[in-house]
Amino acid sequence: MSTDLIYVPRIRQRSRKRLHYVVFKSQSGELTFTCRGDETSSCHQYPNCECESWGDDHPHPNEPHQQCWAKNWFDNDGAFYVGDDEDGNGKPTRSGRGYVTFSFDGDSVEWEWVAKS
Ligand SMILES: [Zn+2]
Ligand SMILES: [Zn+2]
Repeated sequence: MSTDLIYVPRIRQRSRKRLHYVVFKSQSGELTFTCRGDETSSCHQYPNCECESWGDDHPHPNEPHQQCWAKNWFDNDGAFYVGDDEDGNGKPTRSGRGYVTFSFDGDSVEWEWVAKS
């Protein structure tokens, strides 16, 4: 995983809105992550300074980016599924598609499907 592409968000920053959509195919293990937000979404705000993360060291200037911060994590095997049918390797056992929620645990991204109501 090339870390220079990967932005480390504020610890435990959580996505709650239905902005993030995943298509997972269990046979191939292929996972497609899509952010349906835009530059006004919180997941598109990066610190406009030298910092790699939103630590508490100083108030960071904000800069909107075109790409969601979580996208690189999902695209570079940095996101691990934590739902009930997790297969032991951070992937769902069953294929699926739907909105997801995720959080950053300081090391990697953990995600699960948004419960279907
Ligand atoms: Zn900073
Ligand atoms: Zn996003």
